[in-house]
Amino acid sequence: MPVNPEDLKIPELFYSEASGKPFDTCIDCNKDLLRGNQEYVIEKAFKKYPDYNANDTIFEYAICIECAEQLFMSFSESSRKAIEEYFKQHVDIENQLKNLSKIDTFNLDDHLNKCMVKGVTIENLQEYQMVCYCRGNQISIFRPPYMISGEAADEVMQLLSNATIDVLNRFTDEFLGLPPEFKDLFKDKPMLVF
Ligand SMILES: [Zn+2]
Repeated sequence: MPVNPEDLKIPELFYSEASGKPFDTCIDCNKDLLRGNQEYVIEKAFKKYPDYNANDTIFEYAICIECAEQLFMSFSESSRKAIEEYFKQHVDIENQLKNLSKIDTFNLDDHLNKCMVKGVTIENLQEYQMVCYCRGNQISIFRPPYMISGEAADEVMQLLSNATIDVLNRFTDEFLGLPPEFKDLFKDKPMLVF
């Protein structure tokens, strides 16, 4: 059964909360993301406040694939290897892709409700991040979107060299403009790795 393009439209979950619209520019080079077949990545980080029954978006951005790759290549070689190894060991990527290709039976909400590494669901998480690979106004069919728990993200960060952590901190400082109370919490956390 051919994939219906409507089914691959970027869900509102991945719209910019700041504008209420789809992301349209790369946070780094300001390239137009919605024109043509530009590939890019959207990342959002959330924190829950169970006492207040509230949910905050801590940061959100979109970055073109060229800038994302450049950032990844500026990580140290040992960090890049460690990240790739971690995801190879903990995530069944082929199975995820198989699911996404069966788009008529694939439930994106269910898929994003579960940490891709730990299998924990959102109701049991305090912190989590979501990543969506896109092309124009659609989800990329080559890389399924995913959710990753704070715990799994921490495990990845522990594998990184100090040089790579410096790169990530510079990226966070330059582009994400986090308020001081979140700086420590989500320091080193932009992923862009899978
Ligand atoms: Zn860019």
